[in-house]
Amino acid sequence: MESYQPDHYRLLGVPPRADAADLKSSYRRLSRVFHPDRQQGSARAKECFQQIATAYAELSDAERRLQYDRMLMLRDPLRLMDDPRAEKALDVLDQVVARLRKKPHALPSGARGRDLRVEHRVAFATAMLGGQVAVHAEYDTLCPTCLGQGSTEPERNPVCHICQGHGALRVGLRRQELPCGFCHGRGTILLAPCPTCEGRTQVHTRQEVQVRVPPRCRDGSLLRVRGAGEKPAHGGPAGDLVVAVKVQPHPLLRAEGDDLVCTVPLTWTQAVAGAKVWVPTLEGPEALPVPPGTPSGREFRIAGRGLPLAHPSGAARRGNLRLQIALDLPELTHPSQVEAVRALEQLLAPGAFARAAAFAREVEGLRAASAPQDADDARR
Ligand SMILES: [Zn+2]
Ligand SMILES: [Zn+2]
Repeated sequence: MESYQPDHYRLLGVPPRADAADLKSSYRRLSRVFHPDRQQGSARAKECFQQIATAYAELSDAERRLQYDRMLMLRDPLRLMDDPRAEKALDVLDQVVARLRKKPHALPSGARGRDLRVEHRVAFATAMLGGQVAVHAEYDTLCPTCLGQGSTEPERNPVCHICQGHGALRVGLRRQELPCGFCHGRGTILLAPCPTCEGRTQVHTRQEVQVRVPPRCRDGSLLRVRGAGEKPAHGGPAGDLVVAVKVQPHPLLRAEGDDLVCTVPLTWTQAVAGAKVWVPTLEGPEALPVPPGTPSGREFRIAGRGLPLAHPSGAARRGNLRLQIALDLPELTHPSQVEAVRALEQLLAPGAFARAAAFAREVEGLRAASAPQDADDARR
């Protein structure tokens, strides 16, 4: 977000018409507040002091001040008019005391923490059989050390002399309200940040939670773990962790009712001559013996290797794994391949294709039965 970067006059807490003596005395007063030696070497104090010292160096040189004023005039013509608020700025600074505007704002003590919702991908086998998954829950919560104040020693944080503790100020021709860039919108300058959150007021928490996945867990299921959500800084009960399950689809297995179904492609040689084919199961690949002469469409069932049965009575029982054979016929791309296949069929005939032969005979019989009728109709 855009913030207001104070000009040199505001940094020094003086109106633009201040004379050299005013500049000097306010620079001295500010130095007493921000000099790093006076602030136990605070990095933030050093930063502020450097900004103020740079501003003073420029404005205390008459020539450079003239140039600076010209630049400022172009940037904000109203700025060089008297700014009555600037006069008050140093008075405000004198109250270098604990005047934290922000009171502990968050949850009243005893309030319950928020529920956290995370999405988690669950492997197909775990979702089907049930199991445990480790879910990472991350959240930002109010810092328990400073309870969101950003500091445990508020009396060391001076009120910002630029925004006078408001955290924002109206600037430019449009009098647009912008957060104060000097105190970062806090209203006070954080010279003594909280050791836990370093002034961020929030801490990041990351925890691993073991979540039980029930058998036959569907994609999109919400699993709630009581008390595994946000733990409030004020000590109320923790919220819940709600896990939205994304079931990773299996590349080969699909669920149908209580069964698992898999289409198993066989080459014609495997189908004709028999083979041992590796097939997927929820427990990992297993060898399936395919007997010689297995037709396309045949189904092999492995009992008890499907889904856990839904009825509570049969908790230990499972449906079947159904392996459906589908012939994977080759695409012949060269005439010589077609020749070779025809030659093989010649070699096998007669009697090799009993079902095809029986089918052809039936059709031939039907044709013969209807043929004389057709011939008579044609003659008439
Ligand atoms: Zn400020
Ligand atoms: Zn803190």
